[in-house]
Amino acid sequence: MKPTPAGTTFMPTLNGHGTTDDKYRSLFRDLNPPLTNIGAVVEANRCLECGGPYNEAPCMQACPADIDVPGFISAIAEGNPEKAADIIYEQNILGGTCARVCPVETLCEGKCVLMKEGRKPVEIARLQRYATDQVSVEAVRKRSFDGTNGHKVAVIGAGPAGLSCAAELASKGYEVTVYDEHEDFGGLIRYAIAPYRINSHPIPKEVEMIKEMGVEFKMSTPVDTAEKLRRIEEENEAVFLGIGLGRDVDLHYEGENLPGVWNSLEFIEAIKTGHPIQVGQSVAVIGGGNTAIDVAREAKRLGGVEVTMYYRRTESEMPAYAHEVEEAREEGIHFQFLTNPIRFLGEDRLQRMELQYMKLGEPDDSGRPRPVKVPGTEFTVRADTVIKAIGQQKRTGFLDWIEGLDTDWGLIKTNPETRQTTNPKYFGGGDALNGGSTVVEAVRHGKQAAKGIHQYLGGAS
Ligand SMILES: Cc1cc2nc3c(=O)[nH]c(=O)nc-3n(C[C@H](O)[C@H](O)[C@H](O)COP(=O)(O)OP(=O)(O)OC[C@H]3O[C@@H](n4cnc5c(N)ncnc54)[C@H](O)[C@@H]3O)c2cc1C
Ligand code: SF4
Repeated sequence: MKPTPAGTTFMPTLNGHGTTDDKYRSLFRDLNPPLTNIGAVVEANRCLECGGPYNEAPCMQACPADIDVPGFISAIAEGNPEKAADIIYEQNILGGTCARVCPVETLCEGKCVLMKEGRKPVEIARLQRYATDQVSVEAVRKRSFDGTNGHKVAVIGAGPAGLSCAAELASKGYEVTVYDEHEDFGGLIRYAIAPYRINSHPIPKEVEMIKEMGVEFKMSTPVDTAEKLRRIEEENEAVFLGIGLGRDVDLHYEGENLPGVWNSLEFIEAIKTGHPIQVGQSVAVIGGGNTAIDVAREAKRLGGVEVTMYYRRTESEMPAYAHEVEEAREEGIHFQFLTNPIRFLGEDRLQRMELQYMKLGEPDDSGRPRPVKVPGTEFTVRADTVIKAIGQQKRTGFLDWIEGLDTDWGLIKTNPETRQTTNPKYFGGGDALNGGSTVVEAVRHGKQAAKGIHQYLGGAS
């Protein structure tokens, strides 16, 4: 766990899935609870099983991992969840994880044809969770495996991009070693995605499946010098970079070292590793993205009475998913647009925050109108806790060690089909390439890169 600001009071330690205190259980209470056996069969029977060999169903087209959605739903309807799990894991080794974290409103479920008739979409993610929960590691059919092919590949990062690439390579017979600086597997899944979506389960089971395929993991092993990277490069024929992004971006405000001022990732990691924070009554969240929404909803569950998100543009420019903004509103989160913090105030700890109103100006590089300060509009609000959720840093220092590797504003440039970088030995995927997207998108990149590596090392395309 990252160091926390001095003087911060922690709540009692969690037992892994919840606290002894009821108030904190809601942090870990499933947003989408599992279906019962009967519930799953009834829901599966709502599926029209549209699509066919020449015309994929719209839900399948919308799944970045290419899961045969009508196929697995039909297996559940037949009462065969094991077969359903097989179909899911065949395409997505993190099928159980994705069932919990995918923003399905904008992916598979958002394309369900039932909606055209004004009906509720089939609950694809909950059915996926049902199927993957039913089976043990042993029961999941091992991927077709032709024996080792003698080639060695290194994967840096045990997040979704790295795990998916490792699994896909192992199924093709590669000897794969995964390196990660963290103790636990899963990258942001383990340390950042909201605990009411996922905490640790089912990542350990899915990693177990990957280990069964012969992948070796070197956890708590940072690749943090050019020499270590060079050694990995020499010992392997290809290297996959699934390194994600770094810590929160540094935005320097006066008073930001006061206890009570947090960076988003440290705040969430504290919760997810068993040390939820006492947030007090008034919580201010700075930012307008999905991470800002998550921390606001977490702060509410931690007992925040007045939780307000401050965003410097208007609601139309907010990068957060509209459906999540709505859910946050329903949970009582307040939104204050066209405001930006100036400094944090307090004696021994945070007490107030000074802000200023903004107006929209000419478009900036992102194409969105630039927020412009409105002089003379400064005001202060009470704040017991402030959480800054402005975005993550790029891992430029690490990328600079790789000879001939082209980047675009700190993000790895790759061939969109093979995910090969401009240094032919290196491949990349996930957040380090797209600047932060979804778990299932990272899974897709990992699969593409595995195929790219296979091609590069002489296998069929
Ligand atoms: C707060 C938050 C909430 C999110 N919520 C969702 C959600 O609900 N649904 C969703 O689909 N997506 C969500 N995302 C996005 C999703 O988590 C990421 O898109 C995804 O995890 C990216 O996967 P990755 O494998 O590229 O990187 P990461 O998950 O970041 O994994 C990278 C791994 O590489 C390791 N690593 C990096 N550098 C080194 C090094 N030098 N040596 C050794 N190891 C190294 C890290 O320790 C880490 O384990 C969220 C993101 C955040 C920040
Ligand atoms: S992996 Fe995600 S997007 Fe694909 S079918 Fe499952 S829930 Fe939908």
